[in-house]
Amino acid sequence: MTRSDFLPYGRQSIDDDDISAVVSALRADMLTTGPLVDAFEMALARATGAAHAVACNNGTSALYLAAKALDIGVGDVVIVPSMTFLATASAPHLAGAEIVFSDVDPDTGLMRPEDLETALKFAAKHRSERDVKAAFVVHLNGQTADMPALKAIADRSNVALVEDACHALGGLARTANDQGADGLDSVVGDCRWSSMAIFSFHPVKSVAMGEGGAVTTGDAAYAEKLRLLRNHGMSRLPADWENQGMAVSALGETNPWYYELVAAGFNFRVPDILCALGISQMRKLDRWSERRRLLHQEYCTLLDVAGLPDIAPARVSWGRPAWHLCAVRIPFAERGLDRASVMLRLRSEFGVGSQVHYIPVHRQTYWRHRYGVFGLPGADHYYSSALSLPLYPSLTDADVNRVVDALARTIS
Ligand SMILES: *Cc1c(COP(=O)(O)O)cnc(C)c1O
Repeated sequence: MTRSDFLPYGRQSIDDDDISAVVSALRADMLTTGPLVDAFEMALARATGAAHAVACNNGTSALYLAAKALDIGVGDVVIVPSMTFLATASAPHLAGAEIVFSDVDPDTGLMRPEDLETALKFAAKHRSERDVKAAFVVHLNGQTADMPALKAIADRSNVALVEDACHALGGLARTANDQGADGLDSVVGDCRWSSMAIFSFHPVKSVAMGEGGAVTTGDAAYAEKLRLLRNHGMSRLPADWENQGMAVSALGETNPWYYELVAAGFNFRVPDILCALGISQMRKLDRWSERRRLLHQEYCTLLDVAGLPDIAPARVSWGRPAWHLCAVRIPFAERGLDRASVMLRLRSEFGVGSQVHYIPVHRQTYWRHRYGVFGLPGADHYYSSALSLPLYPSLTDADVNRVVDALARTIS
């Protein structure tokens, strides 16, 4: 095995056109906030069907911006599924909220309607249900949570929904044929059942910008607030200004240098250079999403052929995922297997990378110190069996064959 034979669990695809796009941006006048930020936002809005897209420097900032746009702060509670990346909980917490971790389906890792109900009841008992401002729903591995059902529950409790769609760009949340849908496709990020949706453009995600993130929303007021807050909370819009004495000259003209701080914010801007890469990558999204679907299907078919159909990723009955991860479910303990040894053997003997997504967030030291030690059986079970196999558009069918063969040899 040579180094180039190694198959990581995920990787970006950078072509010559991506490189040319970045080089052109470097030769342009604006390196940071320029015309390519707007163009990238338009491409994302078009791809998702959202009315507005606001780009920023990474997915974590996007989550934080969404929390701030919802006015989440100290005294508020946000519900977050424990099966996610750390940032889904850290971001609203840094905005001031306490987190109530919800459980997830033990097979898919997705927050179910009953998990949201249970988390709301927990919040009502330990704090006050009134304090629950939002639930951040995660579309794990590319599959979407049951948004219409979650929305019905959230509405009853006056709770906003934010979708962490970092895994799900390019997929459909519902198809026209799904039961309970109204005959229309719903694209991930169109925010049909949510206030906002979050995306990341980290290299391992389906579209790469190096670092990058975005919020999509159907609400113009949220979009305006997101734009304000990604740029320090400083406004150059006269409509936002209160201090007319400083804003306007003695002659009644708006002072050309004037801006006003209307909220305290960070610099979460994304440079034009990276948006050039994002725009170029977005052109390939449909093709790559289809390739991810085919590869995922190929994995399922070959696992079946290898006599391992029971470890294939669990499917929900709705939607059409543009799979971000291929997460098989191996009951390691029951089979007398040690997950670390399986991963090491896959790597050293077969050149196959793998990863675990994720350690349940409620088990992390920071949260344990804050909220104590407790079990969430669905999340704990999902974690105990999860293993992500290589999945990215440049993977070949032969690669998938090689991975399944290696896995079958390693765990049989
Ligand atoms: C990647 C990711 C994030 C964070 O995005 P960054 O761009 O790395 O900050 C948040 N949530 C999920 C589910 C992710 O996969």
